[in-house]
Amino acid sequence: KQTIKEILEDYKKVLHHDITVYGWVRTFRANRFIALNDGSTINNLQIVVDFENFDEEIISKISTAASLKIVGEVVESQGAGQAVEILAKKITVLGDNFTEERDKTILQPKKHSLETLREQAHLRFRTNLFGAVFRVRHAVSFAIHSFFNQNQFFYINTPVITGADAEGAGEMFGVTNFDLNNIPRDEQGDIDFAQDFFGKKTNLTVSGQLEGETAAMGLGRIYTFGPTFRAENSNTTRHLAEFWMIEPEVAFNNLEDNIDLAEDFLKYVIQYVLDNCKDDLDFLDKRFAEEQKSKPEKERAKEGLIEKLENVVSKRFKRVSYTEAIEILLNSKENKKGKFVYPVEKWGTDLQSEHERYLVEKHFESPVVLFDYPKEIKAFYMKLNEDGKTVAAMDVLFPGIGEIIGGSEREARLDVLKQKMADMHVDEHELWWYLDTRKFGSVPHAGFGLGLERLVLFVTGMTNIRDVIPFPRTPKNAEF
Ligand code: ATP
Ligand code: MG
Ligand code: MG
Ligand code: MG
Repeated sequence: KQTIKEILEDYKKVLHHDITVYGWVRTFRANRFIALNDGSTINNLQIVVDFENFDEEIISKISTAASLKIVGEVVESQGAGQAVEILAKKITVLGDNFTEERDKTILQPKKHSLETLREQAHLRFRTNLFGAVFRVRHAVSFAIHSFFNQNQFFYINTPVITGADAEGAGEMFGVTNFDLNNIPRDEQGDIDFAQDFFGKKTNLTVSGQLEGETAAMGLGRIYTFGPTFRAENSNTTRHLAEFWMIEPEVAFNNLEDNIDLAEDFLKYVIQYVLDNCKDDLDFLDKRFAEEQKSKPEKERAKEGLIEKLENVVSKRFKRVSYTEAIEILLNSKENKKGKFVYPVEKWGTDLQSEHERYLVEKHFESPVVLFDYPKEIKAFYMKLNEDGKTVAAMDVLFPGIGEIIGGSEREARLDVLKQKMADMHVDEHELWWYLDTRKFGSVPHAGFGLGLERLVLFVTGMTNIRDVIPFPRTPKNAEF
């Protein structure tokens, strides 16, 4: 069976031949032209139906969303917009299409808001927009594996159920096999976790990093690519409760190597999408331009979507220390005039996405890599710098997004690591296995985490993270 994408790309091979195609009807115009789509491409295949040759019953069943098998001859198209079309000889309706019910869903052929589409996430796959987004999401995932494979990284799967809170941020979903009608409690009335995951308190992973580090300490270069869970009730357009994270970890790398890796990696993936998703990107580019037109002039993006992607791959990212960034923010007009929701008051404050976006979009007009953050606002495993105040952390900040990658050189010295754990109240005994990596041939190493959906947001020009994952998990969204 050939997909519509294959037929359109290689139409010369089948010109003047009879072929069989399968798909769903997008539109049926003038009782004569079917726009057929099978999900393989944004482009529809035009089917010409000479209704005199067909039963009225069949014709009456051809309408938006119907599923069809068509046998017909491939001919050069008379109309503009497509090279070929199919002259239908035989049409089979493959399944039911309840049109009255269809018209109560997003499959009704009219424009629907993104909110409405989100409420029917299971039907979004049929739309042009979400077809394009999810094909691009696929390309991004594929390019990620391809980049690491080409660079001799091994793909490692870290556990989804774990006893570790890698970030120490307490944003974990517990895992339990409790009988929910009879939750075991101790004498104080607290939940008795001795009966949790077969006698151990566990949670869904917030990051595979700690386990990933142990793998890198034997395999050298590894990456993880799996689901990650954070119990954050933040309701932003950039946070999900379940997202997909990519985490490379490299033995013998320092902070600078890590930044180089992150930059090369992002550029490779974006270039791959530019090279391989042309039709979908053209569609998204047009949509993006339309969306900009409806905004007040001041808020419009300076560049088109494709232009933005081409610019990101062609220039070196700005590299700026946290300390420099704080100076810039403290002295900015925005801060002085109280335009930030969270005013920047002093060195040591954690940056909010509004600050990150100010640096990227207004000040540098470039993706920015910030490094050497205050140790208090970063996780315990990051390497303590010589100043004793900062750690070898790095965040990559992108326009429209803010933080897209967070990473660091890891603390490889056992004594320093133990001290940091004590200072930050991380239980040494629970992480005995992690500390082993610092006991037997410890080496400098570094890695980072990229949220897949943040990158897909960037390359598709979408603005809400719920619209780049097939089934978003957010506080109000867990029905299916
Ligand atoms: P943020 O500051 O945006 O909350 P973070 O610093 O908490 O992110 P990290 O722990 O550094 O995130 O995780 C690494 C990467 O995972 C982030 O740079 C981001 O791309 C992604 N990420 C983190 N939290 C989420 C989330 N809730 N939903 C989607 N992606 C996320
Ligand atoms: Mg966070
Ligand atoms: Mg952050
Ligand atoms: Mg981070």
